[in-house]
Amino acid sequence: MTTQQPFACEDVYLDYQSAKPVDPRVISKMLPYFNELFGNPSSLHGVGDVATNILDENRELIANFINAKPEEIIFTSGATEANNLALIGYAMRNQKKGKHIIISEVEHISIHNIAKYLTRQGFEISKLPVDIYGQVIIHKLKSRIRKDTILISVGYASNEIGTLQPIREIAKIARERDIAFHVDAVAAEGLIPIDVQKDDIDLLTLSSNDIYGPRGVGALYLRKGYRVNPILIGGGQEHGLRSGSENIPGIVGFAEAARIMMEEMKEETNRLESYRNKLLETIPNLIPKAYINGHPTERLPNNAHFRFEAIEGESILLSLKDEGIAIATGSACSSKTLEPSHTLIATGLLHEEAHGSLQITLGRFTKEEDVDKLIKILPGVVSRLRKLSPLWKEEQ
Ligand code: PMP
Repeated sequence: MTTQQPFACEDVYLDYQSAKPVDPRVISKMLPYFNELFGNPSSLHGVGDVATNILDENRELIANFINAKPEEIIFTSGATEANNLALIGYAMRNQKKGKHIIISEVEHISIHNIAKYLTRQGFEISKLPVDIYGQVIIHKLKSRIRKDTILISVGYASNEIGTLQPIREIAKIARERDIAFHVDAVAAEGLIPIDVQKDDIDLLTLSSNDIYGPRGVGALYLRKGYRVNPILIGGGQEHGLRSGSENIPGIVGFAEAARIMMEEMKEETNRLESYRNKLLETIPNLIPKAYINGHPTERLPNNAHFRFEAIEGESILLSLKDEGIAIATGSACSSKTLEPSHTLIATGLLHEEAHGSLQITLGRFTKEEDVDKLIKILPGVVSRLRKLSPLWKEEQ
């Protein structure tokens, strides 16, 4: 395994949820496909045949990654597009059966915005509430299901607080009622083994960059027998479900990233989990009025998320930036807005509590010294900021 950090930035990078570097082994594998093996699978000559074979082989690798069949994989430009194809594609194709869809309150912003779009198209969306840890409340799911419910979409894990969802319980409920079940697996892929058969998932979103592959490529798994309408119209690639010339170098990189992940996931997640546990155990002990966001145990092995009373996450982030530590506040997808994280609010936090949050996400090139540096510096940063905060009372 490569342990050398392949990128230059702050000394310590603890924001793997927002972006991951491409593994150097993936880049080497991709390079020949930019020039030597540049063919288009749609061409009928030898150069095209080579590209077709490459596409088939790599589709099989991605299928293996989630225990699907190759013909159930549709390559897309990334997770956002796969989520669009899953929700809009499924809704449009199956609207004669019903126009009601259920998502959870803690979905990625792309799912929330697709849901808003579908509402404008005449669909009805119900949002499933979550408990204080961010897990969907199963009995509420049962009560939200209606005769015209056609689709349930719940992410495998929260991309913000890392809470894992009871995927198999949700799948069972959906299967018993003949409702399609879509899972955005982007936050969990490469950290939790995903098996669409055992998990009983019908549609599943994957992204390449979240497993150290290149950006601009992802996939939708669509269980055999399920149908979606295409959202991109054109040359009819990907069985007519996703037109546009296939991004062969990207797909090769995605598949190589998945192959490496399948080999290394167990060892890598054990290592990250031990660092993560160190953070969860030490930070609330070292810092007064510091609390864990998300589930204490049912959470991604690389995610630690805290809130600190009386200060702003942004101030902590900027102070840590000065110390050479890159870290996130709230969700990367919405960190440039002043809106508090919808996920933290859904867990019942007040706006001011949500604002004092910090997200730490570990990854392939994180070393134990990185985590130790944060543990050493953070208590001083929080204490200094609290001295400046009108909301902080020393006797607290
Ligand atoms: N779903 C989840 C859970 C995500 O975290 C993200 C962002 N990484 C996306 C979807 C969208 O991914 P992309 O911006 O690569 O399309």
